[in-house]
Amino acid sequence: MKFAITSKGDNKSNTLMQKMRTYLSDFELQYDEDQPDIVISVGGDGTLLYAFHRYRSRLDKTAFIGVHTGHLGFYADWVPDEIEKLVIAIAKTPHQIVEYPILEVIIRHNDGGREARYLALNECTVKAVENSLVMDVEIKGQKFETFRGDGLCISTPSGSTAYNKALGGAILHPSIRAIQLAEMASINNRVFRTVGSPLILPDHHTCMLKPVNDADFQITIDHLTLLHKDVKSIQCRVAKENVRFARFRQFPFWKRVRDSFIGQ
Ligand code: NAP
Repeated sequence: MKFAITSKGDNKSNTLMQKMRTYLSDFELQYDEDQPDIVISVGGDGTLLYAFHRYRSRLDKTAFIGVHTGHLGFYADWVPDEIEKLVIAIAKTPHQIVEYPILEVIIRHNDGGREARYLALNECTVKAVENSLVMDVEIKGQKFETFRGDGLCISTPSGSTAYNKALGGAILHPSIRAIQLAEMASINNRVFRTVGSPLILPDHHTCMLKPVNDADFQITIDHLTLLHKDVKSIQCRVAKENVRFARFRQFPFWKRVRDSFIGQ
């Protein structure tokens, strides 16, 4: 089995990364940064987002494991004290793979055929470059509403505990193949009206955002911020690809939610 390790870059994460690399090599596992079967991310959930994007072209061949060197994470759920146990498990135990849905975003431009496709592990957010965001929201080909406000956030179930949660979105169990559309400070008065509640769309429903006036947007895909000009539409749906995590023990999602947000 071939492995790679990514680190948050601080001393603690780098030291742990070196230790794990040595231990795994002692078990005769091969270090391969380009074509790993397993990617171990050492740091936090943010570090795993970087690892996901680094290896997004081989999601069907790579499984991720997260070790946290700060606080408990949703993707990073092993603690530094457990790494010997984790290394032995990786080297000796056939692992179980857990797959979570991810988000596909296709941005089309007014100048014809140009389109960009992205995959997000947490979410995509859309904001105007200047003034309020004004977007027609279509669901499954039907106009749903015209949104006016700060922005829109379209998240995955595993990303529902990140930005989406801060916007009042629901926490979704990652076994549910869905995406969630949450508003950022919508303008609601006698003239402008939006539904006001987060919407959860199943994997056969597409959400299409169509600019009403401005066509330049600040779009985030997880930690990446992009500027897209002359945008015709932004299409969001559950991707056909999944993210895969290697599991060596039970750590139920709702326990992670409780431990992260409520306490032990
Ligand atoms: P960052 O601003 O340095 O950190 C964002 C925080 O979100 C970190 O504490 C990170 O955990 C945590 N996080 C990431 N994914 C999570 C998940 N699935 N569930 C719960 N918490 C999660 O940015 P970053 O490290 O580059 O991460 C980018 C992410 O930041 C975006 O995908 C977005 O979800 C989030 N964000 C949140 C807000 C908000 O809540 N108001 C605003 C902007 C962006 P670790 O400390 O373990 O890395």
